[in-house]
Amino acid sequence: MVELEDLPSVGEKTAQKLRDAGFADMMRLATATAKELAVKAEIGEGVAEKVIEAARKAESIDFETAYDVMERRRDVGRITVGSEAFNELIGGGIETQSITEVFGEFGSGKSQISHELAVTVQLPRDLGGLDGECVFIDTENTFRPERIEQISDGFELDHEEVLQKIHIARAFNSAHQILMADKINELIQSGSNIKLVIVDSLMAHFRAEYVGRESLATRQQKLNQHLHALQNIANTYNVAVFITNQVQARPDAFFGSPTKAIGGHVLGHASTYRIWLKKGLAGKRIARLVDSPHLPEGECVFKITSDGIVD
Ligand code: ADP
Repeated sequence: MVELEDLPSVGEKTAQKLRDAGFADMMRLATATAKELAVKAEIGEGVAEKVIEAARKAESIDFETAYDVMERRRDVGRITVGSEAFNELIGGGIETQSITEVFGEFGSGKSQISHELAVTVQLPRDLGGLDGECVFIDTENTFRPERIEQISDGFELDHEEVLQKIHIARAFNSAHQILMADKINELIQSGSNIKLVIVDSLMAHFRAEYVGRESLATRQQKLNQHLHALQNIANTYNVAVFITNQVQARPDAFFGSPTKAIGGHVLGHASTYRIWLKKGLAGKRIARLVDSPHLPEGECVFKITSDGIVD
């Protein structure tokens, strides 16, 4: 394995700075931008450019063939949502190396699915999990350990063990949220087997802090940076990223849905899978796949029970 010190133009001091800033592995360095690296590691932008170039050479980052892409997709893991119909809708569960977004109104089940996944990612592979741990970035104080206990009991898992493998970050504002996402790299590099990152909810702080048209550009720029960091974690470490999002009422909509996800094009392009959750009759919920690179649009019905998500 290539070490930081092996790169030309990286001495002991720079290597330490890079490690302290969370850039301990080559892939993380190779996919950083010079600006990001310069700011975080407190090195000159010129040096940052050289280091990134060297890391790219070390990782032999270049064009790849479609065959290589297919090989990489063989590593894609899937995490069960708990409901068979829901799994089928999204191609067998939520995918690693991708960002999956669910959006819907209050009470549509976004947080419930987040709790479910925090448990199911820990299941063995033959039961729909990835034998992994989870990071839960909680922005609205909706994480409930009691709910994890109930869902774990439903799967006959030891709930204390399950709770130990969920790393909670309570984010108090959008800057804190961005910082906590960046820190996931360190957590993984220090040996945690993170296979899922949940952000519940992605937009709450951004929406509250950046009010008015004049701040929209700044908001979208910060959001873009945050999503980029999340996608980077997904690709670099073969991790699934699951984000929840709110909706905005569209009183002027005559056709199509009367609500729409917030976050604009930045989020629309960043999410690989977008799922719209709706409340149905008799406590049922409807999930509609509205965007996917290779699956048809479609709908399914699921239920929320005390054991978690079921058909
Ligand atoms: P949001 O989309 O706002 O995040 P939630 O995921 O919090 O919505 O869903 C809340 C709904 O989940 C509640 O209205 C309730 O119907 C259901 N729910 C929550 N806890 C339980 C439980 N223990 N058993 C059954 N249903 C539950």
